Amino acid sequence: MAKGISKERSPANAIILTTEAHLSANAQTSWPHRFIGGALCLDFVNTIDLPGTPKERNLLADYDALIAWSVARGAMPTATAEKLLRLAKAAPTEAGNVLADALALRGTIRQLAETAQTHGELSPLLPSINAHLAHLTFPPRLLSREPGGASYDLPGQNLAEPLWPVLWTLSTLLVSDDLGKLGSCHAHDCQAIFIDHTNNRSRIWCASDLCGNRERVRRAYRAKQVKGTSPDSR
Ligand SMILES: [Zn+2]
Repeated sequence: MAKGISKERSPANAIILTTEAHLSANAQTSWPHRFIGGALCLDFVNTIDLPGTPKERNLLADYDALIAWSVARGAMPTATAEKLLRLAKAAPTEAGNVLADALALRGTIRQLAETAQTHGELSPLLPSINAHLAHLTFPPRLLSREPGGASYDLPGQNLAEPLWPVLWTLSTLLVSDDLGKLGSCHAHDCQAIFIDHTNNRSRIWCASDLCGNRERVRRAYRAKQVKGTSPDSR
């Protein structure tokens, strides 16, 4: 599904990818970022760059972007996306409310992920998640995916559907051993969150061929500068 990898740097944790998630003519037709979270709900968290900083960049600027992300991430079929985009066009206020809900949920999941990394107390954050879960009236339904595996099917009848796979995967993550394996990228300008599946918890980059390379170059440059200004080098 993904193709066309280039080395162009984009704000967060991303090598540019081009997807074949073709939607309506008005919708975004590609999602230009790599999915590195290891869980759908973490890739959802990583749709904001540098949250809480002056360089913050929200990749989900509107409902269409939320749909484009969902298709590219395999969270919904293209046919569902097209139905939801038509619904959103007819009910823009409701679509805006869903987007606001989605962004609030994203913030809560980030808080959960950051708290879990420090083995902190999750209980203050769970009522918000439980409130979202209480609105789910549709059980997960699966479609086979070529060449293997499965992806979520969704009916395309409720504007809130993009949130459902996020919540399904989040509830699975929160009760799994993977919760104790969460990590964050160590690059100075990246806060991507991921599941660290290495044996000794040694993963420090969202992507070693992107943040890893970039940070190594940055550190080497800084070390050279420091050496160049030291008395010994004069
Ligand atoms: Zn990174």
